[in-house]
Amino acid sequence: MPCLLGWAHGASIVEEAMPRRTSHRGPHPAPDPLRLVQEFLNTRRIETHTEELASPRALADWLSHQQLLWPDAVVDETLWQQGLAAREALRALARHHSGRRLTAEEVKVFQELFDEASPDLRLSATGKLGLVASGNGWPRVLSHLLLIVFEAVRVDTWRRFKICRNEGCQLAFYDSSTNQSGKWCNAKACGNRFNAGNTRRRRAWRDRQGAGR
Ligand SMILES: [Zn+2]
Repeated sequence: MPCLLGWAHGASIVEEAMPRRTSHRGPHPAPDPLRLVQEFLNTRRIETHTEELASPRALADWLSHQQLLWPDAVVDETLWQQGLAAREALRALARHHSGRRLTAEEVKVFQELFDEASPDLRLSATGKLGLVASGNGWPRVLSHLLLIVFEAVRVDTWRRFKICRNEGCQLAFYDSSTNQSGKWCNAKACGNRFNAGNTRRRRAWRDRQGAGR
């Protein structure tokens, strides 16, 4: 499962095969390989109470399907918990693009969770320098995810990777709008629902103010 993200002559390259068994599982798909991170985040769907990674086995199956772990790899309870936490830490990181600041606690949690990720700098057979996901098992998974984000930052696609501002949704989506002003995974569904909720809250607040006079 090679993963080499590198650069040569100032140009971005994906030297070897990144995991590509992605499928469309969310709104506004991000370009590969960032799409894999999107799919990871969208394994949890708040709106429909759907959790694809509901057990250690489910996480192991998902990771092996994405070619991030070998098919017979074992994910124990601790790793499963770490996997779910890593998913939410990535969501918190991406929410930064949606106008919400990362808290100091979220930064600390992210660093602790991804502490085991340790990409290596390697020279490929074709003489190109790049970063590879090193190690085995879970550290390698973390390295893969982190390298994908790192590459997205480098090629400037990461800031378009957003989390829907509807708290009852929070799906990851890719904002391909010209001015990068997207807030919702679906403007009709989530945007309208959010605005209707705001109107209700404003009306309730006015009613309470009126009752207090
Ligand atoms: Zn949404």
